[in-house]
Amino acid sequence: MLLTSIKTKLKLTLDQKILMSKHAGISRFTYNWGLATWQSLYRSGYQPNHLILKKFFNNEVKPVLTWIKEKNICQKITEFAFDNLGKAFKNFFEKRADYPKFKIKGRNDSFTINAGGKPINIGGKRMKLPTIGWVSTYESLPQTTTKKLTISQTAGDWYISCSYEIEPEITLKQYDYVGVDLGIKTLATLSTGVIFVNPKALKKAQKTLTKLQRQLARKVRGSNRYKKERLRISKRHRRISNIRIDATQKATTFICKNHAVIALEDLNTSGMLKNHRLAGAVSDANFSEFRRQIEYKVIRYGGTVIFVDRFFPSTKTCSNCGEIQEISLSERIYVCQKCQYIADRDLNASQNLEKYARKAKPCLDVKG
Ligand SMILES: [Zn+2]
Repeated sequence: MLLTSIKTKLKLTLDQKILMSKHAGISRFTYNWGLATWQSLYRSGYQPNHLILKKFFNNEVKPVLTWIKEKNICQKITEFAFDNLGKAFKNFFEKRADYPKFKIKGRNDSFTINAGGKPINIGGKRMKLPTIGWVSTYESLPQTTTKKLTISQTAGDWYISCSYEIEPEITLKQYDYVGVDLGIKTLATLSTGVIFVNPKALKKAQKTLTKLQRQLARKVRGSNRYKKERLRISKRHRRISNIRIDATQKATTFICKNHAVIALEDLNTSGMLKNHRLAGAVSDANFSEFRRQIEYKVIRYGGTVIFVDRFFPSTKTCSNCGEIQEISLSERIYVCQKCQYIADRDLNASQNLEKYARKAKPCLDVKG
């Protein structure tokens, strides 16, 4: 069995939206209470942890907070708020994240619930949440169960996310090896010659975004019109991100279904942004999303992914003779000075990645 996850938009009534906001508010309150208490205990010379804080909160604080105990409020949210605080500190102590920050209304509207360890049924377009009751989704979900659910809000819409187990579907592979070059103009170039272009809708959505951002600059900060415009912008951002994720899903499914060994650049994304002078953190997030999808899909469809060292000169190397030469950013065609080999810049890079994979994993024991 494999674990996969889904995030999808909820179709809520106004009352349900209010109920979700209440949950998110309690979750945020609990988290912030925990963080503030942690800090003051630490300043007094103690070494707090989230379990001690949770216990104290449950025994001493929660009983007097009647608004948390309202009907229809799932009481599990406070437990998960402490677990998240514990995780945030763990990530900080292990140097994976910055020091935990206080959650802000409107920016951190999310909460997690479970059914006290019992599996929660999902499937189709309706599901029954513990305590909260029935909710609908726009998208039809697979018939399965999950242990916990996270509900979050972005740009006025609520989303539900959860992980669940799936059966692997090992496919017969058309190719043994493939190198995949990720780009901005082209989503992905495969060493087999297959290209995944960015959807046209993406360009259109980005154009609208630029227009909206110009309009926002002309509005008075903090005014109603300003707020309205800002909401439209965040909706547009989300649309762009959805289009990207969709396109990435299609590309990664194709790659993982049809190739046994997949070579991807292990990009240091911030370095990549500097080198390629790429605008925006969006592309950064998109590359890591691509890698994340490949990583779980190779398990699902059977296969291997090889992350190529980021110092490997995939762009500068001639994939025909191995000569290494400089190539400027504006040059879209690779022309080898030594053997006169000519190829599209991204195709040449992907072919080098494929070669790397053939060397790194010469014996194929993963073919489906
Ligand atoms: Zn050459």
